[in-house]
Amino acid sequence: MKKINVTIWNEYRHELAEGQIGEYIRKIYPHGIHTFLAEKLQSEDFEIKTATLDEPEQGLSDELLNNTDVLIWWGHCAHDEVKDELVDKIQKRILAGMGLIVLHSGHMSKIFRRMMGTACRLRWREAGEKERIWTVAQTHPIAQGIPETFVIPNHEMYGEPFDIPNDGKIIFMSWFEGGNVIRSGVTFERDRGKIFYFSPGHETFPVYHDAVIQQILTNAIRWAAPACYVPPRITKQPESPEIIRTENPLKAINTTVLHK
Ligand code: ZN
Repeated sequence: MKKINVTIWNEYRHELAEGQIGEYIRKIYPHGIHTFLAEKLQSEDFEIKTATLDEPEQGLSDELLNNTDVLIWWGHCAHDEVKDELVDKIQKRILAGMGLIVLHSGHMSKIFRRMMGTACRLRWREAGEKERIWTVAQTHPIAQGIPETFVIPNHEMYGEPFDIPNDGKIIFMSWFEGGNVIRSGVTFERDRGKIFYFSPGHETFPVYHDAVIQQILTNAIRWAAPACYVPPRITKQPESPEIIRTENPLKAINTTVLHK
């Protein structure tokens, strides 16, 4: 069985913070969100690696990126530190077929905004309120085995208006105790790449400890994994599949200079 190569990229700054808040987060994720997810999402059809922002090449060497089938992204306070050249490479890889799963505050990451083409802003509030998630696309692969509705007891509120494009397919929607709602699980397709945005996962609550959340991420990895990759797109087609009988009115003029 060919395994799905999964790379879990984490900014890995909050978990290393000094003082009371850092200590609190380390109780939930002692070695970072990436390490925790790598352990919990283990499956015989996954080969999971982790990468963090402060590693050489910001964690994603060309070799690693070119061997990644599904990239999971968690970032928050250091989005701007991610180099544009790296974002270019990730985008290229996604367009060729790599899957991308963007978690929580990754909605403002450079790579997600690049793939969406919109600002990706949303409302938020940190009150530790209850979030109720609804599965609204029950036949979708990411929703398999997931209850129709379930609760995260305490979470940061993320709410609409959420500035993402309208071609997204809504898999999950959330309601918060304070009254807000959000499209909390949305899929997109960009050329050959599949993208899943999933809003749960604030660092000060043990959201990724939840078995249902883990199942959603497992399903999402299998859904986002590419069936195959396409090489960089060559668009010129010198041979037409049918005979062109219409006379080219510009045949006496060399138009190829316009394509250089
Ligand atoms: Zn958050």
